[in-house]
Amino acid sequence: MTEEIRKGLFRIEVPLPNNPLRSVNCYAIRGGDRSLIIDTGLNRPECLQSIRQGVRELEIDLAKSDFFITHFHTDHLGLVGELAREGSRVYFNQPELDWMMNWGGWEVMFDYGARNGFPRDQLQSAFHNHPGARFAPTRIPELQILSDGDQLRFGGYTFRAVSTPGHSPGHICLYEPERKLLISGDHVLGDITPNIQCWSDEHNPLQSYLDNLDKVRLLETELVLPGHRGLISDPIKRIDELKAHHHRRLNEVLDVLDGGPAHAYRVASRMSWDIEADSWDDFPLMQKWFATGEAIAHLRYLEEKGAVRRKPEGTDTAYERM
Ligand SMILES: [Zn+2]
Repeated sequence: MTEEIRKGLFRIEVPLPNNPLRSVNCYAIRGGDRSLIIDTGLNRPECLQSIRQGVRELEIDLAKSDFFITHFHTDHLGLVGELAREGSRVYFNQPELDWMMNWGGWEVMFDYGARNGFPRDQLQSAFHNHPGARFAPTRIPELQILSDGDQLRFGGYTFRAVSTPGHSPGHICLYEPERKLLISGDHVLGDITPNIQCWSDEHNPLQSYLDNLDKVRLLETELVLPGHRGLISDPIKRIDELKAHHHRRLNEVLDVLDGGPAHAYRVASRMSWDIEADSWDDFPLMQKWFATGEAIAHLRYLEEKGAVRRKPEGTDTAYERM
């Protein structure tokens, strides 16, 4: 399904079968000389067929197209290897390229999850179904690195890269100051909340995320084009809702710790989640994993703020209120 948003700027809605996100938005800017395609979809036939049909409908020639990928999650990056042609430039960010080059495998994440209380025996089977593992790109083409402030010119649009880590370590949005448009990837979403997870003690992704919400809040924007679901016509209101959401969640985490020290898995089990399950035990494993990552992100933020501290519990990491 394609839709023209502004002259020469289109949305291709690419379905994500059996995924609560439902679909991913690819944006295409049709240029006289070269076109730009923003984000791709999971590396699975349903996505490939949909995006191929979309570009055909829009009469965009892949041989004369370049690509911009907002961040390395597979629902955005997955198909770039299939779609890019010889001579296509693929714009990406340095932190996530480094991350992919130094990827230590899922075991490193399993260890980290286990230290945070996630039952280790469940991890192997959970990752069988992880979309990041199942639908990852088979080939990553050569990548051109964009830094904060760099510009991309296509079809009469001049986009500026806005570095916005938080949802992922190197996330980039594109801002078009003249048209007052923000292509926001998964940094700002409309009716769903971007997932903020932490899988390393070296990072404080929730802090980065909140700082970078403030960063894009300063941009004069009339329309946000997000990576999932519908367009957002009141960006300031939505950004403020997202900030309020995380501050509520931080308080919820502190309330859980009022009951005594707990590791992230236990904290996650006591937080409230917008998911169709009667109890934590009924959560699909993958949702437990995402919830635990989200609980860690909130605990790390509170730790850096001096509101909680670690309390070693054998080999596990528990947290307690200061
Ligand atoms: Zn996404």
